[in-house]
Amino acid sequence: MALALYRRYRPDRLDKVIGQDHVTIPLARAIDSNQVHHAYLFSGPRGCGKTSTARILARSLNCEKGPTSNPCDKCESCQALAPGGVGTVDIVEIDAATHRGVDDARDLRERAAYAPIAGKYKIYIIDEAHQLTTDANNALLKLIEEPPPHLRFIFATTEPEKMLPTIRSRTHQYNFRLVSKEILAKLMLSICEQEKIKVEPAALLAIAHASGGSVRDALSLLGQLSAGVDEKGLTEEFVNWALGLTPSNLLSDLDQALTTQDLATAMNVVHESCAQGIEPHRFLSDFLEFLGARLREPTTLADLKLVKKLSDAAVSISNSITTLRSSTNPELALDLAIARLFVNQDLPTQVAVAPIEKAKPTVQKTESKKPTSVTELADVKVRWGDVLQELGRVSRVSWLVFFGSEVQALTVNEITIGIADSAKLLQAKENKHLDNLKKVLKSAFGLEVVVSVIALVREKVQEDQPTQQDQDLNEKSGPDLLMEKLGATKIDEFEEGGR
Ligand SMILES: [Zn+2]
Repeated sequence: MALALYRRYRPDRLDKVIGQDHVTIPLARAIDSNQVHHAYLFSGPRGCGKTSTARILARSLNCEKGPTSNPCDKCESCQALAPGGVGTVDIVEIDAATHRGVDDARDLRERAAYAPIAGKYKIYIIDEAHQLTTDANNALLKLIEEPPPHLRFIFATTEPEKMLPTIRSRTHQYNFRLVSKEILAKLMLSICEQEKIKVEPAALLAIAHASGGSVRDALSLLGQLSAGVDEKGLTEEFVNWALGLTPSNLLSDLDQALTTQDLATAMNVVHESCAQGIEPHRFLSDFLEFLGARLREPTTLADLKLVKKLSDAAVSISNSITTLRSSTNPELALDLAIARLFVNQDLPTQVAVAPIEKAKPTVQKTESKKPTSVTELADVKVRWGDVLQELGRVSRVSWLVFFGSEVQALTVNEITIGIADSAKLLQAKENKHLDNLKKVLKSAFGLEVVVSVIALVREKVQEDQPTQQDQDLNEKSGPDLLMEKLGATKIDEFEEGGR
């Protein structure tokens, strides 16, 4: 593959530019009705076809049979201006990033005064136009204000807002857009057929995803990856591995786990992604995109409950991506981000109704040897999230084991933790996890107690504890809020159940 795919498959007609119909169709009409403006501004992200379209426009204008959106491909001008052709003296491409000065612009002004030599028009294509200096812009402005009839300008830029407003206002502006994954994959499939590259369609979708909607990036990745394949061809697995992308089956497994409220499976998916070397940030970004795609499905849109569930998850993931950037332990942050998806939904996290305002800022030290009071139990319950967070710093596995657990009872020498998941309960009985929790309770909360674990029977739990966030939302008292929002009924005392 001597020539880069992007160059080899550069479009030579407007109808071959992909994903930019909103630009190419009106432009073709303008050409065919001979209403071409004297200056155009093509703006939009890099690699989306701005320069290619500018060249095609020049070719369409200077075809012997033109101006036509259907250039003949045979005349001297069409041949010279075809992709890979020698070019003509009448079409001048300037990269403003390297030719920025006023001298260049003055030179251009002098030369522009002459009529075209071979074609009908003299056309200047100015790339990276936002990088022109003010002096250069001013020199050009004169030409654009009173253009000679044979002169055409096409400015291309990724940052139109940085262009001189007096120039912008004299152009017809077209905004190029990022190209959808599906359209990019289709383009790549046709190229693979022509290049005889064996390929899995899912591999092309993965490349399209990684290219972020840029045609140039997609074809450049395709060229790079297809050069390194074995007899199996370009597989999704290879592309994911080479680009560090999250395999789609992991994303759908996580989605499925979220639907069935299966935290253990979700955590397995996360660990599998870490084991495969996928960056936590990449994993969350890919899952966010996956949720976005799910939200756009017609079947989803018909189900408002599902829409809410998915959009809540998307907001939560989006927030987690922001906090992940500053995290010193990205893998733990990833675990928390996924766990939060379950907590934010319907998982009961606390047992009894204990108004938060009664909670003291710290758990009392155990210097007093009298039996632990109810308030202290309430303190521990309220701060259980902090305990688990601290536990996560000591051991991620222990944190996972105790995630979703609930404090059932607290006496002077013993704390009893309820765990609903039977597999986790079994793990929690291992000494290392018990010891880790014991250490955290002592170091962070001054509690010197034996830890025992019991099975937590969910059916007994009728009333959910409101989260701190819910409390903050409203000035109403905790119990009132519970009754109003969650349909709770009031109970007088919470039970030290299960012992
Ligand atoms: Zn022609």
